[in-house]
Amino acid sequence: MTYAVPPLDPVCLAIADSDDQFPVARVFCIGRNYADHAIEMGGNPDREEPFFFSKPATAIVPGGGAIAYPPATDDMHHEVEMVAALAKGGRDIAEDDALACIFGYAVGIDLTRRDLQAAAKKAGRPWDMAKGFDASGPVGALTPAAGCAGIDQAAITLMVNGTARQSGNLNQMIWKTPEAIAYLSRLIELKPGDLIFTGTPAGVGAVQRGDTMIAEIAGLPTLSCEIV
Ligand code: MN
Repeated sequence: MTYAVPPLDPVCLAIADSDDQFPVARVFCIGRNYADHAIEMGGNPDREEPFFFSKPATAIVPGGGAIAYPPATDDMHHEVEMVAALAKGGRDIAEDDALACIFGYAVGIDLTRRDLQAAAKKAGRPWDMAKGFDASGPVGALTPAAGCAGIDQAAITLMVNGTARQSGNLNQMIWKTPEAIAYLSRLIELKPGDLIFTGTPAGVGAVQRGDTMIAEIAGLPTLSCEIV
């Protein structure tokens, strides 16, 4: 068998203290999962049903580094997020079984063309081009779950040019990670290699060419990116 066009190599995340690589299957993102961010986006912080959007796996930038400012926007925003990587998938996963599906955790940034998102919301159109553009998902190295005790109460921060922009705690998530996994698995069959971006705390804002972003979650490797 030969391929009609060259198949893409998988996008792979580094794993802390390992030479293994984590191949990314799909990328699911949960929207408005922190009350203070839901309010800043004009939403309702009550526990509305979770909703999800996707980025293509090719949008992931392993390890961050230089990120080209994307076309078609004057308002690209940072959203620092905890990223859960799945070792096991399935359908109809029970909440009690969901943590056992997680390979590990990393810090990521859900880069967003906010102007395109606002236009899409207004027109009732999809968010794909606001959220799933090239290089829209820098993600740091994964730490295996066994080394992440207390991750559900870890501080999460994003600095731009040395100034704190976002500061929160993973314990502020409206839908906890096992709940998000269970919910998603009732909509689709999850697969090993899937990533879940778990939402962002308040303080999202624009970045420009020349800006440096440092994203941190206590206990995980830092993610650093420069917009070029
Ligand atoms: Mn987000």
